[in-house]
Amino acid sequence: MTTPFDPRHFTPRADELSGRVIAITGPTAGIGRAVALGCAQHGASVVLIGRNVKKLEAVHAQIAALGQNEATIAPFDLEKAIASDYDTLANALLDRYGRLDGLLHNASVLGALAPIEHYDVPTWCRVLHVNTTAAFALTQVLLPVLKRSDDASILFTSSGVGRKARAFWGAYAVSKYGIEALAAMLAAELENLTHIRVNTLNPGGTRTSMRLQAYPAENPATLPLPEAHVPVYLALLGPASRGVTGRAFDAQPT
Ligand code: NDP
Repeated sequence: MTTPFDPRHFTPRADELSGRVIAITGPTAGIGRAVALGCAQHGASVVLIGRNVKKLEAVHAQIAALGQNEATIAPFDLEKAIASDYDTLANALLDRYGRLDGLLHNASVLGALAPIEHYDVPTWCRVLHVNTTAAFALTQVLLPVLKRSDDASILFTSSGVGRKARAFWGAYAVSKYGIEALAAMLAAELENLTHIRVNTLNPGGTRTSMRLQAYPAENPATLPLPEAHVPVYLALLGPASRGVTGRAFDAQPT
């Protein structure tokens, strides 16, 4: 009997992602920034998809300082983007790289923590749009570019409350349940037809501004830094997870 693939026991090689083009949403802070730097450090050409150009430029400069492949900045607001913005991004990636080997859906907003009875409806719509609908639309428009890779990985970022809902997590929990369903469907639709694998990853409680927003009274020093999860992300975005699809992973012990 073989042991099932577990990315938590993975140690990346220095050139783990060499030659791969990996696009990451929300690479300007927290987990996304750590993973963007980790991907670049391990040889990937990274596409930084985010809404704040100044912050994107700062990450671009950090990657340049590593002396690895130059990153590409793709200014893109998941809340405001319209159909033509999605097409422009897909065409730009196709022109620049000819293919995409990895797509990490990492950007999210927390919205409000509030009872359903009082949850603000516009906030609900915004959270579902940024966290779920935009991830769907971006995946759809980038599928032709991903199909041009012979080993592509789509990784969606989930959450504990996307697998077991808890009181007051509102639209955020629903958006992550949506991500789990989207990933499971897409994995089933693509399996046996393409080389694209589709999985979800719950990073678990991590020392970022989103976590602080959700748990303001918590001592951040009790939580792992985003950098601690980089090997897990590299395992799921790179060749180590070839053939693994339709799974829901955790970056930390559950
Ligand atoms: P952060 O709040 O630190 O970072 C969120 C990122 O998303 C930022 O880069 C932010 O950009 C970007 N973003 C937000 N809105 C938009 C938008 N409209 N368009 C483009 N980019 C946007 O979050 P974390 O690093 O904590 O979380 C990363 C992922 O991990 C999320 O999907 C989250 O749900 C998940 N997660 C996190 C946990 C934790 O404990 N931290 C636990 C479980 C899951 P900008 O810098 O411009 O604001």
